[in-house]
Amino acid sequence: MSKVLYPGSFDPITKGHMDIIDQSKNLFDEVIIAVLHNPLKKTGMFTLEERTNMISKLYENVDNIKIVMSDKAAVDVAIENGCSAIVRGIRGLSDYSFEVQLCEMNKDISNNRINTVCLFASKEYQFISSSAVKEVLSIGKPIDKYVDPYVAQELYHKRKIQNEK
Ligand code: ADP
Repeated sequence: MSKVLYPGSFDPITKGHMDIIDQSKNLFDEVIIAVLHNPLKKTGMFTLEERTNMISKLYENVDNIKIVMSDKAAVDVAIENGCSAIVRGIRGLSDYSFEVQLCEMNKDISNNRINTVCLFASKEYQFISSSAVKEVLSIGKPIDKYVDPYVAQELYHKRKIQNEK
């Protein structure tokens, strides 16, 4: 059985991430989405638990998708879950150079056990990122086009709480 790990910050999950998940589940028997802490992205809008719960809710009725949360390295989470590869999404040239470096580093630190499969963002989602969605929300513009309706509701709720503080 082919299993792949899709690691990321998912703060929050967007339609771009969901497109990569759709593409992955057509290629692999099982996709494990790993919500990981990215030390380069200091404070998130949602806690790791909140991000994981949102993704779990979106995929609760999908058999071949599993969600895990971890503070470990992606390669270790992949090995722990029996995955031989990591999947990453590429939106354009800037993602490409970053992902090539990450792929080589992950191969190296896992002693060549974990390779990376890169999938290309579909045209309509190429410009979507979690940070852009948060920025649009922060200026009071609608974000419904970029995320699932359930995630949009959570984002509006979070903004309301933050504004009340
Ligand atoms: P990380 O902090 O690991 O980069 P992200 O949640 O930002 O976590 O992204 C996880 C993965 O999903 C990365 O490979 C990123 O390039 C990819 N990704 C993010 N947004 C999109 C999108 N709109 N289309 C395709 N891939 C995407």
